[in-house]
Amino acid sequence: MTDVIIIGGGPAGSTLGCYLSQAGISNMIIEKANHPRDHVGESLVTNTTRIFNEIGFTETMEREGFVHKYGAAWHAPYGRSVVSIVFNEFPVEGVNQPYSYHIDRRKFDLCLLKHAEKLGSQVVQGVNVTQALFEDGRACGVRVRIGDQEVDLRCKIVVDASGRDTFLGRHLKLKEKDPLFNQYAIHAWYKHVDRDDETGDYIHIYFLPIKRGWVWQIPITEEITSIGVVMEKRDVKDALQDIEAFFDAQIQTSKNLARAMRNAVRINEFTTEADYSYSMKKVTGDGFLLVGDSARFVDPIFSSGISIALHSAKFAAEQIVHALEINDFREEVFQPYADKLSRGVEIWYEFIRLYYKLPHTFTYFIQVPKYRMQVFRLLQGEVFDRSEAPVLDAMRKYIEAVENSEDHIFKSGLTDVPIDEITNLVVES
Ligand SMILES: Cc1cc2nc3c(=O)[nH]c(=O)nc-3n(C[C@H](O)[C@H](O)[C@H](O)COP(=O)(O)OP(=O)(O)OC[C@H]3O[C@@H](n4cnc5c(N)ncnc54)[C@H](O)[C@@H]3O)c2cc1C
Repeated sequence: MTDVIIIGGGPAGSTLGCYLSQAGISNMIIEKANHPRDHVGESLVTNTTRIFNEIGFTETMEREGFVHKYGAAWHAPYGRSVVSIVFNEFPVEGVNQPYSYHIDRRKFDLCLLKHAEKLGSQVVQGVNVTQALFEDGRACGVRVRIGDQEVDLRCKIVVDASGRDTFLGRHLKLKEKDPLFNQYAIHAWYKHVDRDDETGDYIHIYFLPIKRGWVWQIPITEEITSIGVVMEKRDVKDALQDIEAFFDAQIQTSKNLARAMRNAVRINEFTTEADYSYSMKKVTGDGFLLVGDSARFVDPIFSSGISIALHSAKFAAEQIVHALEINDFREEVFQPYADKLSRGVEIWYEFIRLYYKLPHTFTYFIQVPKYRMQVFRLLQGEVFDRSEAPVLDAMRKYIEAVENSEDHIFKSGLTDVPIDEITNLVVES
């Protein structure tokens, strides 16, 4: 019997497979698609490289020629002003290179799954998990569909890494829609985007002159650039009859973006992503854990998703190793994992909320010498210790001062995102 069955062979599932195999634990990854398959999420924050180093995957990233990501640039909604940073100004512990990566997800996810297989995971593709099996309230396996047949596979621990499909969360009715964010994204790949010579390999974020609206520009190859428009769902509802016209109209609202896109030619269909922010009542139970997007999804403004997916896999592996050592698979044993994950995601969530409350706060604080390194650490994905991020308290105070003033220059930029009372939003554990 396999020790661990992992539902889903995306970045979270494959990384978990790598860590478990390194620890000598038998594991099977069951993926419903046949890789390569399309996926959104193409820019990696710095601390993902530390995970690649740990699982011996950095060499593959280099060999496969993924675009090196040295920095990030944020463009103001009006005019041409830009704030940019080079991540290596504050190198991250355990990362010995001045860049992370932008990725073609078809290629990246396939390489990572193959890497997991190479390290020892049993990988099954094109097989859908249809049910989780429970015995005396404890997860003990999965049911899969192979052709016309259903087959039961048993194990000691089940891990849900099914991404935004949230397989277990839906089946166990754990999923809670995010009460604040209801964003909608439309994206496609383009050729002939006019990338600036110096910052062409950065991620570029263009703030749109509409509340909670922004656009990503991510280089996928020398020629191909991913462009994605993100807005509140209520602002796009009439636009979907003519996505192209809507997309182009948004691009024209930002001078810098319009300039970058003036010769651009779209090379694939538009893809849309909706309702993507949620949390779970809990992320562990007797015999099971949720990792990556299946556990929680927060807004992608700071490209946090894959970093969280990889780190949740690492933290889950640590707890699984322990559970197998003591032969105890009760929810309590997995609790340290739930706590660690919750701490990290909540910091991202706080940062994101402060950003959406008043986007200017973020570009202001990154330029304040006292806080610059702390903002960098957040942007690099180093989010697992709240005591190292007092900048979040300073941002909150700053926003409150703007709110309470009569005529602050940035008062009109405030949105209706509440920044206090976050207790009811913490992942329950
Ligand atoms: C608009 C948008 C922009 C984003 N931009 C970024 C970005 O720039 N950078 C970043 O880091 N992140 C970004 N993300 C987030 C990123 O896409 C995810 O965080 C990441 O893909 C999570 O990896 P995962 O392995 O948890 O899930 P996934 O990558 O979704 O993998 C889950 C896998 O499980 C499989 N599966 C599902 N159900 C079953 C089943 N029943 N049986 C078997 N297999 C199953 C699926 O086929 C899939 O391959 C973005 C997300 C959105 C919505």
